[in-house]
Amino acid sequence: MSESPQVGDRSTGDESGTGPLEWLALARGTLDRAAERRGDDAFLDAAWHDPRTRVLVLRDGEVNAIVEPDPVLVLLPPADAPSGDRYFLGVDDDGVAYFAVTGPLPAVEGAERAGLRRIGALLPDRDSGLLTHAVALEHWHAANVYCPRCGTRTEIRQAGHVRRCPNDGSDHFPRLDPAVIMLVTDQDDRLLLARGPQWPADRRSVLAGFVEPGESLEQAVVREVREEVGLTVRDVRYLGSQPWPLPQSLMIGFTAGADGTVPLVPDPVEIRDAGWYTREELTEAIETGRIVAPGPLSIAAQLIMRWYGGPLPKMPPF
Ligand SMILES: [Zn+2]
Repeated sequence: MSESPQVGDRSTGDESGTGPLEWLALARGTLDRAAERRGDDAFLDAAWHDPRTRVLVLRDGEVNAIVEPDPVLVLLPPADAPSGDRYFLGVDDDGVAYFAVTGPLPAVEGAERAGLRRIGALLPDRDSGLLTHAVALEHWHAANVYCPRCGTRTEIRQAGHVRRCPNDGSDHFPRLDPAVIMLVTDQDDRLLLARGPQWPADRRSVLAGFVEPGESLEQAVVREVREEVGLTVRDVRYLGSQPWPLPQSLMIGFTAGADGTVPLVPDPVEIRDAGWYTREELTEAIETGRIVAPGPLSIAAQLIMRWYGGPLPKMPPF
C-alpha cells in the first residue's frame, strides 16, 4: 500500500546501509500462530464450531479474493467451508481463530481466483500472512505424502503442521529450502545486476542461490557470487528475510561489497549477462525499457530499492 514504509527511502531512515529491510510483501503476518494449540483437540473443535472463526479455502495455491479496488481474501465461516484437509493458522487480537481448508473454491459473488504472485504484495498485512502460511502448508503436504523412512503414507497431525508415519511413528515437519540473495555493490556504490538463463532478455536482478548442506549463510553468499560472476565479496551483512513458498524457499537477504575493477566472469550455465549499474544508468535502462526490474512481491525488489533510495521507475504502486 502506498502508505507503507518504502525501503530505501533515505528521508525516513537508515543511511548507513546496514539497517534491516523494513517492508517485505510476504513477511507481514499479524496472527498469533498459537502453536501450543495445534495439539489441543478441545480447543480446535470449539474453534471450528465458533461462527466467528474464519476459514480460507485454497486449492493448488489459489484462493477466492475480492481483487478490486483493494484486494482482500474471502474468508468463510466454518459451516460454509468444504470438507478438506484443515490447517490451523492462528488467532487474532480479538481471539478469532483462522483455518485454511483445501478443497474446491466455492462460488462467491464478486470474488475471483488469485494466488500469491498476483495479490501477495497488495493484500493487507493479516491477509498476506494468512495466504503465505496456507500456501506453504498446502504445498508441503502435497509434496510429502509418504514417509521418507519406510514409504508408508503419512497422516496429518498438529492441525496441519506435522505428518506422522503410522508404521514407525516418525514425525515429519514442513521443509524449507534456504536461499541467499545478495545486494552486491562496489567502491563507487554501483549495483551488480545479472540475468538468469531462463529469464526474458530484459530481466535483471541481484544474485541469489540455494544454501548447500554443511554451509553457513555467509559462506553461501561468498560461494554464490564467486560461482556466478567470479568476484570475491567482503563485508557480508544480513538485511532481512521473507518466506517464498513458491514452492518452499526462505529468501535471506544480505549486502556485500566487491571490487568493481575486477573483470566479471559470468558462469556460462547460471548467468547470461552481468554488469555494474549506477543509479543514473539503472534509471535510464528502466525508463527506456531495456531493463525490467523485479516486482514488489520479491525481496530482490526491496534490496534494489534500498540501494536506489526509493521506488524504482515504472514500479507499480503498492
Ligand atoms: Zn515410516
